[in-house]
Amino acid sequence: MFIKKSLRHVVMPIIRYSYTNIMKSKIIKHNSPNFEDRKNTAKPCFIIIHCTEMSWKDAHKLYMNEEIDKNAGRISPHYVIEKDGTIHQYVDEEKRAWHAGKSYWDGYTDINSYSIGIELENMGKMGGYPKYPKIQMDALVDLCKDIKSRNNIEDKYILGHSDIAPDRKTDPDKHFDWSYLFKNGIGLKNIKAQ
Ligand SMILES: [Zn+2]
Repeated sequence: MFIKKSLRHVVMPIIRYSYTNIMKSKIIKHNSPNFEDRKNTAKPCFIIIHCTEMSWKDAHKLYMNEEIDKNAGRISPHYVIEKDGTIHQYVDEEKRAWHAGKSYWDGYTDINSYSIGIELENMGKMGGYPKYPKIQMDALVDLCKDIKSRNNIEDKYILGHSDIAPDRKTDPDKHFDWSYLFKNGIGLKNIKAQ
């Protein structure tokens, strides 16, 4: 028993790692033309979670303006996470991406200027609410931890698109497991506008 316990204590520090270093090596970068400076030199204080309601390949065409959605116009998130956990970045975090639209939370109306947007590849209501795979959720946890630590984002400001635009949006939808994020140190157990 004594030996096992000692070994565990020796091994534990070795497997600790820095999220920031791991994330940088995993992210595939694309340069979406859909961005601008954050208004009033705003710093991001929200993370907004979305679902694509289409395949990543189709969403990619929209973010790169290879196709334009006539209803939504030009759009872009900062990050997309594919079903297999692959993370893509389209807009630098310092810049204002175009994902939130008309929205409101806690006195903020220009959420695009104050947020980092993450799209999850999931068909949502278009596909009968397919499960978000664990590998994708784990990638989201890692990415949120990384973004949180670098931007000092509070858990109460990690929200879904449906929270900030409830009259227009339902994503990431009812099948998204907020409690899984909470159990992994991301967000709040119960979200309420103040
Ligand atoms: Zn959305």
